[in-house]
Amino acid sequence: MGDREELADALRDLAGTLRHHRDLGVIELPMSAAAGPAPPPPIDAAKALAAQEAALQGCTLCKLCQSRTNIAFGSGNPRAGLLVVGEGPGEEEDRQAKPFVGRAGQLLTKMLESVGFDRERDAYIANVVKCRPERNRNPEPDEVAACNPFLMAQLDTVRPAVILTLGNFAAQTLLGTREGITKLRGRAYEYRSSILVPTFHPAFLLRNPGPQYRRMAWDDLKLAKREFDRLTGTKR
Ligand code: URA
Repeated sequence: MGDREELADALRDLAGTLRHHRDLGVIELPMSAAAGPAPPPPIDAAKALAAQEAALQGCTLCKLCQSRTNIAFGSGNPRAGLLVVGEGPGEEEDRQAKPFVGRAGQLLTKMLESVGFDRERDAYIANVVKCRPERNRNPEPDEVAACNPFLMAQLDTVRPAVILTLGNFAAQTLLGTREGITKLRGRAYEYRSSILVPTFHPAFLLRNPGPQYRRMAWDDLKLAKREFDRLTGTKR
């Protein structure tokens, strides 16, 4: 290949990469590397999440596509300091295409409020899988794996100070462990550039209303709020 063709090829590749970044919501690229490694380019998080959600429409990467009504991608503040990760949409979430809008969602809102979080202002909410497993069965490993890049893209876009995982699946998926939530909860983990706090799933708390579980969940939420205040400089 001659020099001109090589240059044309390289420019075509570059144009493709830039188009891809633009579709993901990147609106500025740093032009100088004078002061060490360039910081990540600023992104318009709302636009980026909208592009990711649009890209997911019609997804057939796993068998959950056969039974879903809608994809429940995520909802909340794209610039939130708290990212909440659940398991997968239930019946109401599948109908409304939004995570945590059913009974478990109502309890989640109250749990967040109990430590001073405002769901709409402070949180972005997502699930490990974005399509409802039939009869709310557990998501299977191939389904979790197929959906993982979309959750990672949400995390990289929102870049939350704190990640609150709900139940076994979210904690196990992000921490890469088979350990159960009872062992994992009660402490904070460093996870990428965030702090991850695992707690019980609100659906579990609805099924096990014993005060000991609610108290443990409250302790976890207080820990998440302390980390959030520390990392975001929020005054109590
Ligand atoms: N349970 C979840 O894990 N996610 C939802 O969105 C609803 C219920």
